[in-house]
Order: sequence, then C-alpha cells, then structure tokens
Amino acid sequence: MKTQLFFKSILMALLIAVIIPISFAQSEKLPKVIILATGGTIAGTGESATGSGYTSGKVTIDAMIDAVPNIRKLADLSGEQISNVGSQDMSVKIWIDLANRINELLAGDVDGIVITHGTDTQEETAFFLNLVVKSDKPVVLTGSMRPSTALSAEGPLNLYNAVAVAASPKAKDHGVMVVMNDKIFSAHSVTKMNTTNVETFEAPMHGQLGDVNFGAVEFYHYPHGLFTNQSEFSVDGIEGLPRVDIVYGCADMSPDLIDIMVNAGAKGIVIAGVGDGNMTTATLEAAKRATSKGIPVVRASRVPTGAVLIHGEVNDEEYGTIASDELNPQKARILLMMALLKERSRENLQQLFVNY
Ligand code: ASP
Repeated sequence: MKTQLFFKSILMALLIAVIIPISFAQSEKLPKVIILATGGTIAGTGESATGSGYTSGKVTIDAMIDAVPNIRKLADLSGEQISNVGSQDMSVKIWIDLANRINELLAGDVDGIVITHGTDTQEETAFFLNLVVKSDKPVVLTGSMRPSTALSAEGPLNLYNAVAVAASPKAKDHGVMVVMNDKIFSAHSVTKMNTTNVETFEAPMHGQLGDVNFGAVEFYHYPHGLFTNQSEFSVDGIEGLPRVDIVYGCADMSPDLIDIMVNAGAKGIVIAGVGDGNMTTATLEAAKRATSKGIPVVRASRVPTGAVLIHGEVNDEEYGTIASDELNPQKARILLMMALLKERSRENLQQLFVNY
C-alpha cells in the first residue's frame, strides 16, 4: 500500500515537473514575424543629433532590432536585408524581389511581415504590395522621419509598433498597412503630407484604420478597395513592368510632354491634373493623340482629396481617357503598370480604377 502511494506521488511530481511547463511554453509561443529591411531614414545616420543633414540606408537590420528595447517580447523575430537605399531610389526590381520573398515567407509558418522603408515612396511600395501579396496575414511598412542618430529619433518606437501590429491576430485580413507615429493606415489611402515632420502620414480621404500605442493594437475601420487575396494581380513570373510616366498639370502647361513620353516609349501616361483631373485644351488634344495610338492616359489630380470623376469636365469616351477615381497620381501609375501586363479595353481599365 505504502509503495503504491510512493509511486503515485512520484507520478504526480513528474506530471507537475514535465507536463505543466510544456503546456506553459506552448501557450507562450510567440508569433513569428520577419522584418525585411529596405533602407530609408529609419536606417539613416547623420553627423550631429540636431543637424538636418544625414544619409539614408546606413544601419543594418540586426543593429536596428537590437536598438529597440523589449521588441523580442512581442514576436519570434528575425531580419533580412532586401536592399539599403533611400526610398527615392526604390525600384520596380526591388518591389518584385520584395513581393516574391513576402509570398514565399507567408506561405510557410511566418505569421506577419514588417518592412522598414524610407517614407518618400513608402505609400507606393505599400500600394504595389497590396495588389500582389497573396495572403491575408499582416504586412506592415514602417520608417521614420528622423535618422537613427537624431535627437528624439522615432524609428525605434515605429518599429516596435509595426512588429506589434504584424504579430496581432486583429491585423489579419487588412491587406498591406503603414504604421507610423502610433497610427495604422491602409496602403490604398495613406499618403505623405509633410516633407519633414514626424506627423507626415495621413489618409485624407478615408482616415486611419486604427491606433497602436506602445504595442497595444486597436482597429476601427476596414480598408477601402480590393487588396491582396481579392486582387487579380500577381508577380508570378514577372521581371519588370511596362513604363508609365506622370505629367504634372499646371496653368498653361505644355502639351509637348505627352508627345515626348510617347516617343520615348511610355506604354501609359498619368496626368497629375488640376482640379478634377483637368488639363489645358492643348494637353487634352495631346492625350487624345496618345490614346488613339493605344497608349492609355489616366486623369488623376494634384489635389490631395476628392475623387476624379468619370466624365467630370472631360468627356472620357471622346478623348479615350480614364478617370483615376480615388487614386493619387503615383498610385494610379502603379495600377496602370500592373494592368498593362495584359491587353485590356478602356472600359476594363476604367473599371479597375473604380475597384482598386
Ligand atoms: N528620403 C528618405 C527616404 O525615403 C526619407 C525618409 O525615409 O524619411 O528614404
């Protein structure tokens, strides 16, 4: 009887010593997040903590992770360096490499992706990825306005918050996001609004998707337009994109630029028009010359809010033009580049601008 009791207590002790720690470890398993670094001011260094001059893309991803206290408590983290450039030098080639790597990682056991990126073209990379990432897992871009060596550099907190969003189950099925300055934005609606201030990103048409405060994530909106798994676009097998140029509209603008772009080999043109996607009468005639040669011309606007309306002041059918709807010129260019990977009618192109 005594021996039975002895063995029972040994068994109990073993259960407590082995089973309980295992289940504890399982419940504490952190989400797996990969940081893909591309450069930008977040990885920039300057000579002085208070000077405005600096060089983007100097610090490696491992050094950036090590500079953020407690970040490894949020996720099982690792970093990969995709490029180390100021985002003024972001390229279609890096976009395609980035998208392929993200699709590969998210098809496996990775729960979320963070991309560190310069702020100048962050919205463009985000919008491109929103069209071609094939997963509903979170993909989050972040960066900073102040270099890592600056007084009150905001990069470490932005990175901390971006990892928190990428690791959060709440962020699933929100497409590609931008996390900057405690705010979560959708790739569709975010845009850079200030050249130097940390409060630079806004979504003037639709507002932010949510907040993230020292890692506490809250969503209160769903993104606009089709994205990721809902998108018909893909990077499978592509190595480049057709050339699409942007013409900036102004009073008395020259129509020559459109003809020059067509002669230089542009496969599509976006006008950053005045007002509701308008342009001088002579430019509209140049646009018609381009569209009659089969080169699509999209009317976007240099005005930061409001949609460009189909048949607003321009009869789009007559001129063969397409209204960009809510996409700003730089995002309209990306949608047109992707759309031009296959032959499409003007009507089909117009529908894409309404849907995305
Ligand atoms: N020129 C920098 C870049 O886009 C600006 C920044 O990151 O804030 O890489």
